[in-house]
Amino acid sequence: MKKVYLDNASTTQIRPEVVQEMTKIMLEDYGNPSSTHSLGRNSKSILELSRKGIAKCINATASEIIFTSSATEANNWILRSAVVDLNVRRIITSRIEHHAVLYVVQELQKEFNIQVDYVDIKADGTVDLTHLVELLGIEGKTLVSLMHVNNETGVVLDLQRVSMLCKEYKTLFHSDTVQSIGKLDIDLQLVSVDFIVASAHKFHGPKGVGFAFVKKNSGLQPLLYGGEQEKGLRAGTEAVHQIAGMAKALELSTKLMNEEIAEISNLKSYLVSQLSEAFPGFIINGNENSLCTVLNVSLPFSPDKTAMILFHLDMKGIAVSRGSACQSGSIRPSHVLAEMLSVEELKRPNLRISLSHYNTKEDIDIFIAALKTL
Ligand code: PLP
Repeated sequence: MKKVYLDNASTTQIRPEVVQEMTKIMLEDYGNPSSTHSLGRNSKSILELSRKGIAKCINATASEIIFTSSATEANNWILRSAVVDLNVRRIITSRIEHHAVLYVVQELQKEFNIQVDYVDIKADGTVDLTHLVELLGIEGKTLVSLMHVNNETGVVLDLQRVSMLCKEYKTLFHSDTVQSIGKLDIDLQLVSVDFIVASAHKFHGPKGVGFAFVKKNSGLQPLLYGGEQEKGLRAGTEAVHQIAGMAKALELSTKLMNEEIAEISNLKSYLVSQLSEAFPGFIINGNENSLCTVLNVSLPFSPDKTAMILFHLDMKGIAVSRGSACQSGSIRPSHVLAEMLSVEELKRPNLRISLSHYNTKEDIDIFIAALKTL
């Protein structure tokens, strides 16, 4: 049975060139980058070249890139240190953030009694910027945390506009860019953010490694204490092969971005046209500017099909999801769609179909045919 993978917002297939790079490093370049002998220095040099390569892809300085084990860790670190060390007393965020932000903010609220304001979300999944301006007008040391691309709907935040607002109101700006890094052009000389985070497995790199961009002189303090790695900001021996794999993956995604994004956009148009033909009345959750890799739809099926739809597709070798991967086993409505849809609309079965350049029209045809048999 042909496997059809349409769950690229959860994780992506690793590129063979990345595996090759990582394998070589695991076999040959096994020195500890903190060791002073030549094997150690060699690993250190791989690490610093990776840092430089990553910084170049987002037009940042290498010293502003800190390696972490995941985007979850990077989000936790930045948000916690902003409260504990930078004296942030208020966080403005949204209820459609990934749980790696949302639950951290809730925990910080409980622990430190900070004020949390949630900016309104419109029916198409976009952030209400007029409401954001109202919230920004309130006094107090504030951090804004808004994701660049929503992992469930693909809706894109106007990073430039929000960064300018944050500058105007003198607030810190953190953006979870996990879904956009390697898929959208991010130029940090043009967009003024204090912190962004990324995760290699979302752009055809390995799992278990990510990075944070932390603007120079941020004052952030470490989450983990131990060795002096990452200028003392993130203790623990660096996963050299993972980091080099992440750098290779981002280099390739950046180089091939225009070509691959054009391919994926065509595929998404095909998917939408096939869904329209097979299931008139289906609804797209999001807007026309949603990132081409993600399509979130509500299907004109009865609500009692919700529980079995993923199971049915899985039996046919098709991997899709509802909501984020962490929630897809649950039949509770997604916290993101709950902010966008009415109670009635929310009852309809929904799916998140997420694409990569590895997908083909044949994958879409197999998926549509399987949905028709429901
Ligand atoms: N933020 C967003 C928007 C995501 O989609 C994900 C992954 O599901 C994460 C954070 C967590 O990333 P990681 O798997 O590196 O912890």
